[in-house]
Amino acid sequence: MIRTRFAPSPTGFLHIGGARTALFSWAFARHHRGVFVLRVEDTDVARSTPEAVQAILDGMNWLGLAHDEGPFYQMQRMDRYQAALKSMLASGAAYLCYTTPEELERVREEQRAGGLKPRYDGAWRPEPGKILPTPPAGVLPVVRFRNPSAGVVAWDDLVKGRIEIANAELDDLVIARADGTPTYNFCVVVDDWEMGITHVIRGDDHVNNTPRQINIFKALGAQVPLYAHLSMILGDDGQKLSKRHGAVSVMQYDDAGYLPEAVLNYLARLGWSHGDDEVFSMQQFCAWFDLEHITPSAAQFNTEKLNWLNAHYLKLADNDRLAALVRPRLEARRVTLTHTPSLAAIIDLYKVRVSNLNELADAAEVFYIDLHPKADILAQHLTPEALPALADFIDGMHDVAWEAPAINALIKTCIGKHGLKMPRLAMPLRVLLTGQVQTPSVDAVITLFPRELALKRLTAATKN
Ligand code: GLU
Repeated sequence: MIRTRFAPSPTGFLHIGGARTALFSWAFARHHRGVFVLRVEDTDVARSTPEAVQAILDGMNWLGLAHDEGPFYQMQRMDRYQAALKSMLASGAAYLCYTTPEELERVREEQRAGGLKPRYDGAWRPEPGKILPTPPAGVLPVVRFRNPSAGVVAWDDLVKGRIEIANAELDDLVIARADGTPTYNFCVVVDDWEMGITHVIRGDDHVNNTPRQINIFKALGAQVPLYAHLSMILGDDGQKLSKRHGAVSVMQYDDAGYLPEAVLNYLARLGWSHGDDEVFSMQQFCAWFDLEHITPSAAQFNTEKLNWLNAHYLKLADNDRLAALVRPRLEARRVTLTHTPSLAAIIDLYKVRVSNLNELADAAEVFYIDLHPKADILAQHLTPEALPALADFIDGMHDVAWEAPAINALIKTCIGKHGLKMPRLAMPLRVLLTGQVQTPSVDAVITLFPRELALKRLTAATKN
């Protein structure tokens, strides 16, 4: 049974890179009909906040990445870490170290002065035949992991290939602080072990922790999971993704008007491929997803492609669903939504022309507000030769059938009568009705309005 986990630290929002890690872990579990665990790594009490926990849950929820187990909170698992510490001290896999921070600093100074890499000198590390110093009174010890001193620690990373580190490179890690609290690398191991994680899929900023974690797994007598370290995501400009690049939090993509399915589809292709396939559902993704096709090189963000995917999914989306997503955006702009024109009908006409929900809101807004087309645009399109045709059109509108073909026929009659080309009348109609020069087919736009409102807009501007 495959078991994966997503283990964010709640110190900020859900980062787009974190979302990709979560997506891959989730998809791998789904592909194998396994279990996806959500674990909140909140032991950094100074930086963890309830708001950040909520932001992670909101982000996961928005993306629809449902966990099968959890969320587990590390702060609620302290007894588990204490039990593991106890057993490691008992087995000799860990030991008490009374070196004070000041002493440690002195040792490091000496090492640096001697041109050595600063590291714990092993003063309290038990060795066969070694006589340990007497614990000093009044000093609370830390617990250190007794890292193997010889050999290598190696793993076949499922993305990066084989990685080997000499144990001599690793000093004895502190696994519990003087106040008894367990440290980060230790909690991760205890959790991955007890939660039965088979595949650790995480960002490659953790590669350096892995050899230490593997050694602790072995000391616990636990099965070492398989590791897949995902390369980082670069911004459009090839630099490390940061706030400079705009949206980095998942919920900012919601604010910016992206649909979750577009973001998911986009993230799925960020460092993973299935031939040339670009557009696919999450169901399809889970069926295809494997670790073999994850690229070890960094993936570069491409906002244009994300926008293209978003436009694609907007076209496919149900009008009522989009209306429910656009409505709060209009309300946030204090636009009062009257019953008519129907938001879903506006969306149906405009969704093929926009690339995000905010553009859809822009398009819809003009139908509901008290519209005052800009004077220069009016002057440009409401030409003297257009006015008589417009007047005829307004006359005809009182009893024309309220449907696009009939309105289209009316427009043609009016331009025919005055010897005008289509845009001569269509442009002033667009501008008067929506304030905009670019709209979908004008007859279709007109039918979105209730007859009275269309007449009001057309006559109001022609009067002054
Ligand atoms: N809590 C870690 C982070 O947010 C992830 C740890 C892990 O995946 O092993 O970066």
